[in-house]
Amino acid sequence: MIKIQRQVILAPYTTLKIGGPARYFTVVKNLRELKESISWAKENKKEIFILGGGSNILLAKPWPGLVIKNEITGSEIIKETKKSVWYQAYSGENWQKFVEDSVRRHLYGLENLASIYGSVGAAPVQNIGAYGAELKDVFVSLEALNLKTGRSKIFKASDCHFAYRDSVFKKSLRGKYFIYRVTVKLSKEPRLNLSYGGIKEILLAKKIKTPTPKQIALAVTELRASKLPIPAILPNAGSFFKNPEVSEKEFKKLQKRWPEIKFFSGSKPNLIKIPAAWLIEQAGFKGRRYGAVGMYEKQALILVNYGGASAAQVLAQIKRVIKGVKTRFGLTLEPEVNIIPPLK
Ligand SMILES: Cc1cc2nc3c(=O)[nH]c(=O)nc-3n(C[C@H](O)[C@H](O)[C@H](O)COP(=O)(O)OP(=O)(O)OC[C@H]3O[C@@H](n4cnc5c(N)ncnc54)[C@H](O)[C@@H]3O)c2cc1C
Repeated sequence: MIKIQRQVILAPYTTLKIGGPARYFTVVKNLRELKESISWAKENKKEIFILGGGSNILLAKPWPGLVIKNEITGSEIIKETKKSVWYQAYSGENWQKFVEDSVRRHLYGLENLASIYGSVGAAPVQNIGAYGAELKDVFVSLEALNLKTGRSKIFKASDCHFAYRDSVFKKSLRGKYFIYRVTVKLSKEPRLNLSYGGIKEILLAKKIKTPTPKQIALAVTELRASKLPIPAILPNAGSFFKNPEVSEKEFKKLQKRWPEIKFFSGSKPNLIKIPAAWLIEQAGFKGRRYGAVGMYEKQALILVNYGGASAAQVLAQIKRVIKGVKTRFGLTLEPEVNIIPPLK
């Protein structure tokens, strides 16, 4: 029998440490409990919100329905060939643990995604990415349960519509499926991607010429630790905004006005990505505090709760930053973090 709690404060379950009460709250540890929770919500006509590690959400209002906290853990190899391994993890598994397990087995594919917070199940939701890699590069399929019917469905990569920090689960299927387990295909042979963000330099400094997946994961962890605030010390939800993408024509206009503008290639051949951190810094927000909130002094893309910030303060900061960047550059920043309910 599942245990349904009432009026559970959600702030401690998030890395931003913000969030009011969930009217109903339950923790699921296996498929049976998950199915029972979905049935309970159906019988009681309550909307479900799925909570993983709470590292990519801003809960701006109390949740009137049922919050399902996902603690369905575990992982296993389900298929193996000479060159590859199909590795499956249950969605409540900690992402960092999944990566650690894979590199310990000497498998290539997840090492650049080391040290990302949260659960395996949330990884496809925004197609997590870092250091030149994205989940979609290794993704095979996922199994998800429809939150209305409880029925299970397999989603292949093409069904997920993966894009830059985006998928069908953030768009048309938002809040409609519980991702139950995820399968990735990893390589037994080196498939290195070291050209981003200083990985190569760290390995060279350590005199590592042919790195193992574990050595790469450690280099990524080191790089991240030097730049990102630890949520347990300075509550945050990682990069708050997506890097805007513009056409080449639009970019040329911006570059004419700001020759020092930073950029890199976009998610499609004709698009240019502009680092939102640079735009936010130029607009004067880096390290500037507004009461209990502000953009982190070492990385302007990270919105920090300096202690006791309210959801209203964070929402005001989001709007302030969007307006500041829009006024200066004419570009509209889009939040990467899931704001519940969404911004209007
Ligand atoms: C310091 C820091 C650094 C970060 N760096 C990165 C980074 O480099 N790259 C990156 O991509 N992200 C990064 N993030 C963001 C975050 O770690 C990822 O987005 C992560 O995948 C969120 O996982 P979670 O379990 O915490 O999701 P949650 O915050 O709990 O949920 C996020 C969304 O997914 C939905 N969801 C969660 N689980 C499921 C499920 N099983 N089925 C269906 N929907 C579900 C939720 O309802 C919610 O809408 C960072 C965050 C922090 C705090």
